[in-house]
Amino acid sequence: MSFAATIVTLYPEMFPGHLGHSLAGRGLAEGAWSLQTVHLRQFGHGKHRAVDDTPAGGGAGMVLRPDCLAAAIDSADLHNEMPRLLMSPRGKPLTQGFVRELAAGPGALIVCGRFEGVDERVIEARNLIEVSVGDYILSGGEAAALTLLDAVIRLLPGVMGNEESGTEESFETGLLEHPHYTKPSEWEGLAVPDILKSGNHAAIDAWRRREAEKLTADRRPDLLPGTDLDHTE
Ligand code: SAH
Repeated sequence: MSFAATIVTLYPEMFPGHLGHSLAGRGLAEGAWSLQTVHLRQFGHGKHRAVDDTPAGGGAGMVLRPDCLAAAIDSADLHNEMPRLLMSPRGKPLTQGFVRELAAGPGALIVCGRFEGVDERVIEARNLIEVSVGDYILSGGEAAALTLLDAVIRLLPGVMGNEESGTEESFETGLLEHPHYTKPSEWEGLAVPDILKSGNHAAIDAWRRREAEKLTADRRPDLLPGTDLDHTE
């Protein structure tokens, strides 16, 4: 059983986007994951297939209608246990922990918002879990959905060549990753640290661990154990 992604969007042509390339693209071609897009426009009303309308109570912008969104969601062929997500800046912040959970499951339905957002009633009536990719506002949910999918797909069996590189990344250890170096061993007067050329793997591991801890303490102290904010879920 491979991971099945179903996307509800006004812009199906934005998918698979960058996920049609490189390892994710090969995974898609080889069936490690599948993609179905549901074009929200097809569920619109009238000659112009309108899916949005003015906000109740007044104010700027347009809001996606609950009836059109629900019809689009209901048209999708979904596995029972598939989570239904709505990309939303109000949602729970996307974490590597949640990404792992999704990657272990059958797939996900992902609704991409546009304009001012979606009518609150459809979130409730279709049990949509709101997920945010960060504290900033995008013009639509498509880039957010592609971000979430990218993070999930690279964890799927058979997608990344080197399984190990999936488990040693930033966040997987609870820390930001240590610095990397490669050839040439001296460049613009800057040398690769001697320890990395020592061949002493225990010492190298200890050095990397120390560097990771220093970096995390400096840049993201909130990730360290004992702080109130738990970003690993
Ligand atoms: N008026 C809304 C923002 C709407 S942006 C507010 O202030 O909360 C339009 C759409 O883009 C949203 O419905 C959502 O689907 C998507 N989007 C924007 N920023 C996002 C983010 N940080 N994470 C996930 N989705 C986002």
